[in-house]
Amino acid sequence: MCTPAYTLSKMKGNIKFYKGENIPLELHKPRIVQKLHLVPIERRLQALQEGGFNTFKLNTPDVFLDMLTDSGTNAMSDNQQAAMMHADDAYAGSQSFARMAKAVEDVLKKKYLLPVHQGRAAENVLSCAYIKKKGALIPMNYHFTTALAHITQYGGRIAELLYDEAYNIASSHPFKGNMNIEKLEEVIKETGAGNIPFIRMEASTNLIGGQPFSIANMRAVREIANRYGIRLVLDASLLGENAYLVIQREPEFASASMGDVIATMTGLADIVYFSARKLSSSRGGGICTNNLEIYREMEALIPLFEGFLTYGGMSVREIEAIAVGLYETLDESIICQSPQFISYLVNSLVANGVSMVTPPGVLGAHVDAMKLCEHIPQTQYPAGALAAAFYLISGIRGMERGTMSNQRDENGNETYADMELLRLAVPRRVFTLSQIKYVIDRMTWLYENRKMIGGLKFVYEPPVLRFFMGELEPVSDWPQKLVAKFKEDFGDSL
Ligand SMILES: *Cc1c(COP(=O)(O)O)cnc(C)c1O
Repeated sequence: MCTPAYTLSKMKGNIKFYKGENIPLELHKPRIVQKLHLVPIERRLQALQEGGFNTFKLNTPDVFLDMLTDSGTNAMSDNQQAAMMHADDAYAGSQSFARMAKAVEDVLKKKYLLPVHQGRAAENVLSCAYIKKKGALIPMNYHFTTALAHITQYGGRIAELLYDEAYNIASSHPFKGNMNIEKLEEVIKETGAGNIPFIRMEASTNLIGGQPFSIANMRAVREIANRYGIRLVLDASLLGENAYLVIQREPEFASASMGDVIATMTGLADIVYFSARKLSSSRGGGICTNNLEIYREMEALIPLFEGFLTYGGMSVREIEAIAVGLYETLDESIICQSPQFISYLVNSLVANGVSMVTPPGVLGAHVDAMKLCEHIPQTQYPAGALAAAFYLISGIRGMERGTMSNQRDENGNETYADMELLRLAVPRRVFTLSQIKYVIDRMTWLYENRKMIGGLKFVYEPPVLRFFMGELEPVSDWPQKLVAKFKEDFGDSL
C-alpha cells in the first residue's frame, strides 16, 4: 500500500489576527528540538579567522541561526520520520523506491523515475546525456551554480534570458523568474535548434532571490519548444513554493489546489528533475519523465555515477522520507510557512531602510549588498564581506550570492555578478518568530553601522566552485573595529 498515512489539510495558511497585526503563524509544533549555541563575539571573530572569512567554513558549534541554505536543513514531519522506520533495505527492487516512484507519479505526474543522490547529480546526468557537441547552448531563465558548472564541464554554454525587471532589486513584479520569450526565440534562431539540447526552466529562480515564474510564461516557453522541437527541462527543486506563489499571484489559479498547479507545471516539461534536499524536505533527488526514450537515454548513467536504479546513491530511509515529503508538498498549509516567514522578514527590513530583493520570494531573504556596502568595490566582494560582518555581529550564518559565487572566465578574469546578495535562508518550518525578530534586529544594527564594513581578498582560490572552500582575509582591521562598536552598543550582551 502506498497511500500516505494522513489526510491532506484543506487549510489555507492565511490566518488573520483580531488586532490586525501582520505576522506569520506557525502551523506546526516542535516535538524534537536541538539546542543552539550563541558564542561571544570574540569567539565569532576567531571562528571567522579560522574559516578564512568564508561562512561555508564555519562549524555549527559557532553558529547560532544557520541561514546558510535551505538544502537538507528543513524540518521533517512526524509522518516522514515514521516512514523512515519501515524502509526496505535492498540493493535492487526495494519497495521504498517503489513508494517514491508512486509519489512521483501521483504528485509530479511522471511515470519513469531515475533516482540520484542530490540535485546536482541530476544535472550531471542530464548534461552528460544531452551535451554532446562542444558549444551546445542551454537557454534558461537563470543559472544555478551547480547547473552551470555541470553544463560547462561537458563543453556546453548557457544563455540567461530573464526580463530586465528581474534585475531590478526593489520591484513589485510578481514573476521575476519569467523567461524572456522574445529573447528565447531570437537565441534559438541565431543558434539553430540543432545546437540546443534542451531549454531549462528553474522554478523559483534561486540566484535572483527565489523569484517564481508564472504558468502563463511557462506555457509560452512550451509553445516555442514545440515549434522548434526542443526538449523542455524543469528544475523543480523549489517547485512547491513556485506553485504556492502562483496561487497567490496569478489570478487564473487563485482558487486552484497545490496539486493542480504542480501538475500543470510538470505537465509542460519533458523532463523534471529535483533536489529532494529542498522539494520534500529530505535528502536525495530524482529525474523523471513520461517519455520512455528519454528515460532510456539516461538510464545507464545512474549505475555509472549514482548507484543501482532503485536507490541512486540515496539511503532507503531518505527515500521513504522523500515519498511522504512529496505528498506533503500538496498541502498549502505546509508549503506556505517558509514564504510567509520570508515575507515578514523582508518587509520588516525594508521598513527599517535595508534594501532587499522584493517582492519577497522563497527559500530566503536576500539583502542587497551592492547597496548596503556601496563603499566596497566589487573586486573586494561586498556580499562576501557582508556575510562575514553579519555573522560576526549576530552569530547568524548567511551565504554570499554574488561575485564570489561566480567562476572566472577562460582568461582568468573575474566575472562580476549582476547582483551582490547576502542570502539569509529560511529552512522550511525551522525558525520561530522571535528568532526571525532577532535577525531583523541585528541586521538593522548592521545597516546603521554599514560604513564600518570593509572588503575581502582571496588568499586561497580553488578553480571550480571557489565559494565553497575558498579562503579570504579582510583588507584592513575593519572586523576588530566592528567588534569594538558592537561592545559599545550592546555591552555584555551576546
Ligand atoms: C539546490 C539546488 C540545486 C542543487 O541541488 P543539490 O541537492 O544541492 O545538489 C539545483 N537547482 C536548484 C534550483 C537548487 O535550488
